[in-house]
Amino acid sequence: MTRGPARKVVSIVDARAAAIAAAPRPAMPVYVPGRVNRCVECHHEAFWVGRITAECGSCGRPLPVDQLRRHP
Ligand SMILES: [Zn+2]
Repeated sequence: MTRGPARKVVSIVDARAAAIAAAPRPAMPVYVPGRVNRCVECHHEAFWVGRITAECGSCGRPLPVDQLRRHP
């Protein structure tokens, strides 16, 4: 049995992970405490703000609260 030229083994999982990491991610709307925030659905500015999420006071659309930019 003859062997051909050595082929590089490429893992499909690694290739997919690299493709996902390289793909541009869509911007995710977040609620930033201390700033004017607008609802992405109805453009109202009133929110019920919790620790983890902020909910639009008009339509109820939840947004994650940006923990990193939270002011003390
Ligand atoms: Zn809304």
